[in-house]
Amino acid sequence: VSAQQRPKPPKWDGKGLPPVGMDVIFETASSGFVIGTVTGYHVMGHLGGDPAYHRVCVDMVYKDTTIPNSRLLKDVKPVPDAPLKQVDKLFVCDFCNKTQDEAFHMIVGQRETAICDACVDVCNEALAEKRKEQPA
Ligand SMILES: [Zn+2]
Repeated sequence: VSAQQRPKPPKWDGKGLPPVGMDVIFETASSGFVIGTVTGYHVMGHLGGDPAYHRVCVDMVYKDTTIPNSRLLKDVKPVPDAPLKQVDKLFVCDFCNKTQDEAFHMIVGQRETAICDACVDVCNEALAEKRKEQPA
């Protein structure tokens, strides 16, 4: 098996080090949780405590980019099976289940209810019918 054909590493369980090439999540101030791909590790010295202790950092790039970032190991988490709201801000139409990237436009209401443009059209037609039957 060549390097290119090597299967993806199994899911990281959050223990030890996440393998190089693994997708993980970490929190950013601007965008909440984002996905990074592990590229390596580095170790920093202690923070004024016992010099026997070191801090392990995970080096990453933002997923599908070459933009590097780094986080303390404790701040790097496995990608959840069900995407977190913070990880995936994709809204789903509450009427037809279309996702935001499948729809031309998604209108999001309070409490994160959402409706896609196609369902708005259906609603408009239904309303027009109703208004024809019972003029206001
Ligand atoms: Zn819809």
